[in-house]
Amino acid sequence: MTLPKAVELIEVGPRDGFQAEETFLPTELKVVTLKGLASAGLKTIEVTSFVHPKVIPQMVDAAQVMAAARELPGVHRLALVPNLKGAERALEAGAQGLRLVVCVTETYNRRNVGLSVQQSLDLFGEIVTRAHAAGATASAVLAVAFGCPFEGEVPIERVVELARRFLDLGSDQLGLADSAGLGNPVQTRALLRAVRPEIGDTSLWLHLHDTRGMALANTLVALEEGVTRFDTSLGGLGGCPIMRGATGNLATEDLAYACREMGIETGIDLDPLRQTSRRIQSFLGRPLASRVLQAGTAEEVVARHRSEDGKEAS
Ligand code: ZN
Repeated sequence: MTLPKAVELIEVGPRDGFQAEETFLPTELKVVTLKGLASAGLKTIEVTSFVHPKVIPQMVDAAQVMAAARELPGVHRLALVPNLKGAERALEAGAQGLRLVVCVTETYNRRNVGLSVQQSLDLFGEIVTRAHAAGATASAVLAVAFGCPFEGEVPIERVVELARRFLDLGSDQLGLADSAGLGNPVQTRALLRAVRPEIGDTSLWLHLHDTRGMALANTLVALEEGVTRFDTSLGGLGGCPIMRGATGNLATEDLAYACREMGIETGIDLDPLRQTSRRIQSFLGRPLASRVLQAGTAEEVVARHRSEDGKEAS
C-alpha cells in the first residue's frame, strides 16, 4: 500500500456541522470552537456560510464569526456562498476562499439551491470574477458526485464533464462530495482515476459523509490514489437540510487518528481537538459520532486497562 507522507484536513464543522443543528449555537461558542480548532492545528477552516438567515437561521452571525476568525493567526478562512450577494458579504467579512456547492444532478441542484446546473455554472463564473478581483480564491464543490438520493447512480462521465467546465471557469481547486454517503471504495477509485487526469495539477479534495460507514474506507482508497486533502468535521457533525436520514462528515478526530496510526503527518493534536468537540457535545446534550472521541486512542485504552489491573492487584 502506497500512502502519502502528509495529508491536509480541512475543517468544515463550523459550517457543515453547525448548519445541520436546529439548536442555535451562540456566537461565542462558535468563536471558542474556531479557537480550539486552530490550537489543535487545523490550518484551513470552512468558517461559516453566507446563506440568507431565512434559509439557515444558524448562519445569521456569519459576518461576526468570520471577523473573529480573522484574529486567528495562520488560519486560512473559507466560506460557503450560495449566490453573488453571499460572495460579496463573505469577501467583505474577510473570507480568503469561497466555495460554491453545485449538485451534479439537476433534481438535487434544483432542490438544494433552486437553480439548474447551467445556472449554477453561470453563477460560479461571476463568483470567480468577484473573488479573484478581491484577491481571494473560488472553488466549486461537485455535490452528490458519488450518487444522488433523488436520481440514483451518477455516471462518472457527468462528473468528469462538470469538473472540466468548472475548471474552465477558473475554479482554483475542485471538491468532490459524497453528500448522501452513497459511495463505496471501488467506485471511489474509479471516479478518482477518471477525474484526476482531466484536471491536471488542480488540487482536488474530497468531502465524504459517513452516512453508511463508508467514509473512512473511501478515504483510504483516495489516499492510495494520491489524494491529500479531505474535508472533515469535528466530532463528525454535519448533515444536509434537504435530505432525509443524512448524517455527518467523516470526523476530524477519526481521520487525524487513522493518519497518525498509519504514519501520515496531519499536524493535528488530538487533545485540544477532542476538548473542542466535547464542549459542543455537552452544549448539544448528545454524544457526537466520532469513534475516537468516544472510545479514545489505542494507547489510552491500554493505559486505562493497566491502571485498572494495578488497582485490582493492590
Ligand atoms: Zn457536507
